[in-house]
Amino acid sequence: MPIDPVFQKKRKKAGIDKGIVVWGPVDLPEKLGIRGINVAVDWDICEGCGICVSVCPQQVYEWRETSGHPTSEKKPLPARQSDCLQCFQCENVCPVKAIRVTYGGPGWASAVLLLMFAQIIVGIGYGTIFGPYLGFESPLYVGWIISVVSLPFWFSTLIYFPKKGEPQEGKRFVDTTVLVDSGLYGLVRNPQYLGCIMLMSASILVSQHWLSAIIGIPISVWLYTEILKEEKGLIIRFGDDYKRYMQKVPRMNLLLGVMRLLERRKTEMKVDE
Ligand code: SF4
Ligand code: SF4
Repeated sequence: MPIDPVFQKKRKKAGIDKGIVVWGPVDLPEKLGIRGINVAVDWDICEGCGICVSVCPQQVYEWRETSGHPTSEKKPLPARQSDCLQCFQCENVCPVKAIRVTYGGPGWASAVLLLMFAQIIVGIGYGTIFGPYLGFESPLYVGWIISVVSLPFWFSTLIYFPKKGEPQEGKRFVDTTVLVDSGLYGLVRNPQYLGCIMLMSASILVSQHWLSAIIGIPISVWLYTEILKEEKGLIIRFGDDYKRYMQKVPRMNLLLGVMRLLERRKTEMKVDE
């Protein structure tokens, strides 16, 4: 039986093993429970074959002795689960389906995302209702235009993934097994991130408040580093298909994306003639 996809709801925390949460029930040495959160391994199913340890490009796993356990005498602990790139290699190769990988990110990521929403809503709302803090009109109008243009980018995952993606059973719709490269994903590779950064920039321009800039700029830089990390995982997950996609479509440069799309359309039209 594979690892329970909703183990976090059904099981109780039974302790910590080298900073990694242990989900019970635990009754040593025969019952060991599940180790980890975003990279979780069911030690009661694991047979200790070591394939996950050898395929992981990030060295997330460390061996632990588990003498007396009925399925194997050693198990992989996801000791560096925060380094996981969500490439799903380990999960796909595990012969007994003992691993479950989900989006993790740093523990403070959800707090930062909340701050981002606040920066966007409060900044744009403030500038629109009370007028920009510095009183410049042109940046205010540019900010409004950017915020409208950014909306389809912001919602791109919701627009394209349910239609074009094919998620694994029990996974989020964004954890697709096929590459989504059409629509806005044919313009830039990370439209949702671009939408977030555009909206934060719009908030700075509309509000013209120093607080909006102090919050928006570091979060934009952090989002960019998240893209770099995520793309490392996507290269591993989709292999040459993703490398070809990278050559065709820029990461976030919208202008370059439009130019390349037009070039591709022109070439396709020539071939049709
Ligand atoms: S998903 Fe990839 S990076 Fe993450 S633990 Fe598995 S093999 Fe390692
Ligand atoms: S691949 Fe699966 S069975 Fe093999 S060591 Fe890793 S978790 Fe255990």
